[in-house]
Amino acid sequence: MKLNYREFFMQKMLIMFKPEDIDMSAKDFISTYASYMEDVGIVGKGPDGYAFYPSKTAPVRKEHTAFFEEWVRLTDALEIHGVVGLDMYTDGWFARDPKYQTMNDKGVKMEHQICPNRSEFWQYGAEIVKEIGSYPIDEILLFGSGFIRDQFCFCERCRKEFAPLVDQEPNRLTYQYITENPEYHEKWHQFRSDKVHEGLTYLQEAAVESDDATGREQPLKISVEVLMDPETGLSEGAKNEYGYDYVRIGEITKNVLINLFPWSPVLPSKGSSEYSELVESLYFVNEFTRRGGRASLFRWGVTTIEQLQELKALGKEVGIDRVVSTFHYPSDYSRRRESAIGNY
Ligand SMILES: [Zn+2]
Repeated sequence: MKLNYREFFMQKMLIMFKPEDIDMSAKDFISTYASYMEDVGIVGKGPDGYAFYPSKTAPVRKEHTAFFEEWVRLTDALEIHGVVGLDMYTDGWFARDPKYQTMNDKGVKMEHQICPNRSEFWQYGAEIVKEIGSYPIDEILLFGSGFIRDQFCFCERCRKEFAPLVDQEPNRLTYQYITENPEYHEKWHQFRSDKVHEGLTYLQEAAVESDDATGREQPLKISVEVLMDPETGLSEGAKNEYGYDYVRIGEITKNVLINLFPWSPVLPSKGSSEYSELVESLYFVNEFTRRGGRASLFRWGVTTIEQLQELKALGKEVGIDRVVSTFHYPSDYSRRRESAIGNY
């Protein structure tokens, strides 16, 4: 599909590119579109765990490192707001080691997904934030920052830590045991939410360290992706399913990227009751913004100006003035969708 990039830039959509999307050099691309671009994004580490820059921490896609470095150097030189994408717990390479894989209570493992209760992995992520932050960029979009859903995680570590909180033996802990008792279920949500935000704190500290190391004028922002889908109860449901707490994200990184309807193909049309529910569900943005945070709307695979206008109209209604998209769905989309809303 041949897209008219200029049109999207002129509409001020922040586009997250992969080097493969672009059939010319970074220099040719940036110089062609620079006058229309206020901001632009490039992938730093993808869901397969490979880095697009010469990382000393993660494995590297060597064929793209020159492109990445030229891209970020030029966006900086031209004063374009430079954004780099980073997939967190979706990391196919790190998850080669089964002990890091997240799993449900039946031991069904997600081979591409790391358990968020892993301080070793927070450190790994923090190193990557520091590496990316050593480039002259302004913002990191952090994708995949929570649990897959409420049925996760029952890895050995999560069992061992959580079971004593609900008077159970680690190896006898089940999802049913937890959900049968509302108090236990609430503890489960709290436990998981604490892990998610502890992980985010590591990454935020790494961003601050990179500011100190580079003397960056404005602090490096980390915008945390939160999934918001009717299948998982929009914004309220997402707290329990994925472990987010919008207030805590506001305190830790101050920036949130709301991934709208990741598991549902179409957004509800204006005037429908589903649309009103969605708008209502985004009310938390007011408070988030009032406390000094910034929210952006995100959607995978926006390829027409009409889709973009639809997002902008929704944004206007809920007080969000930035729309971010990729032209593609993630390459592992069907697997992600299945793990997020499939039956267990
Ligand atoms: Zn776990």
